[in-house]
Amino acid sequence: MQTFKDRAKPNQHQRSVSLVNYDELRRRDTATPETEFRQRRPVLDTQASVDPTAPIDISTISSNKPEKCPLTGEYAEKATDLEKSALLSECLLTETAAVSEKRSAGEPLLLSAASCSTLPNHLQGDPTATSIIKGHRRSLSLRQRFEVGYEYIVSEFEHAREVAGKTVYHAGETVWKVCHFNHLPNWMQDNEYLHWGHRPPLPSLWACAKSIFRVHTETGNIWTHGIGALLFLALFIYTFVTMNAHKTATDRFMLIVYFCGIITCLLFSTLFHTFSCYASPKVIKIFSKLDYCGISLQIIGSMIPALYYGFYENFFMYKIYISFGVVLCILSIIVSMWDKFGEPKYRSLRAIVFLTFGLSNVIPGVHWYIILDSRLVTAFGMFILQGALYVIGSLLYANRIPERFFPGKCDYIFQSHQIFHVLVVVAALVHLNGINSMADFVLHLNSTSSAASAAATAATVAAANVVTPSPPVVSVP
Ligand SMILES: [Zn+2]
Repeated sequence: MQTFKDRAKPNQHQRSVSLVNYDELRRRDTATPETEFRQRRPVLDTQASVDPTAPIDISTISSNKPEKCPLTGEYAEKATDLEKSALLSECLLTETAAVSEKRSAGEPLLLSAASCSTLPNHLQGDPTATSIIKGHRRSLSLRQRFEVGYEYIVSEFEHAREVAGKTVYHAGETVWKVCHFNHLPNWMQDNEYLHWGHRPPLPSLWACAKSIFRVHTETGNIWTHGIGALLFLALFIYTFVTMNAHKTATDRFMLIVYFCGIITCLLFSTLFHTFSCYASPKVIKIFSKLDYCGISLQIIGSMIPALYYGFYENFFMYKIYISFGVVLCILSIIVSMWDKFGEPKYRSLRAIVFLTFGLSNVIPGVHWYIILDSRLVTAFGMFILQGALYVIGSLLYANRIPERFFPGKCDYIFQSHQIFHVLVVVAALVHLNGINSMADFVLHLNSTSSAASAAATAATVAAANVVTPSPPVVSVP
């Protein structure tokens, strides 16, 4: 229990008493009885001599001296409780505003006892009222000191946190270690059968980009499609450089469509797997949506040239099947834009959506088989093989085989997603082979028919020459 003497010391308790009383005075009910008001109010010890120019010395403040009522004498007789409270409130509010201005202007907050301008005119010169104001000013200064101190601590804390954040940021960029699946945040947990080797959330896209040179669960996924994208880019250039001069503009357009589809798909997939550890679920979702859109673009990019050459002599059916494919492509892209589409629990739905879209080619495939030229059986076989590779890859992906049977053993290699990626690249190569076979066949068909028509025309002309008698030569004697 603190004694009165103890409280006279400038200790923490005294400060808090002063602050508490100040708060109470600010929100004081004007109807509070004067006795209670006297007991709670901290006042300046008027017995002490005060140097008006000296900074505040908190040791001069004491509290709970009810015998030192500030409004004794003339004022105590005339003023009502309401007036006393109003007076104090007015002074305190004025003082608060003045201190706030000083603080915002960057001036020191210590008030000298001489700055007594806030005392209303009718109270100027009244020793008791002046002592009240001084006491409150000092109390207010303490509060302001406390606030400034608090703000200083907060700003130091913020600064320390900022420095710590930067340190962690740079450390996270350069010295991160792979972690266990259970240490990942929820929004990064995708495949619980891969135990170790996960990248932690990285603080920058640059750190994610650099992670492609580290070994972790996504390294295989990044490089299988990264190398695939480079391979198809090289094939694209090679195909156009060595292209048969007899190929038409439509042939070139079909190849461009195909290469754009597959390169976009592989590129978006590489980007997604590279940045899937970025410490922002929103950014990861954008990349995952791009990845799914890339799959849709790849499927439609494969369909367009295959259907064009398959129904080369039936343009009406080509338009029907292409319209069907475009509608499915748009639908799958719309579904891909759904925020939850990329969540682990919708893995099977994703496989179903893209398998349905891909397998929609079965209908035109059967139609094509019926009207198939026997010389295109090999090309047809290519498309069958390509479809089978996609289906196998999708089933492995959806069911997470083989890691499901070997949890923790496929963390870095032979996981279902890597197998799926490799099968996609192989299937795309097989598909390209099929398209090239069909394009060559159509080119051959066209050249044969044009040669045949030229021969027929020549034969017709020759026959006409035989039938038509040559005009008699008129000899001029
Ligand atoms: Zn992937």
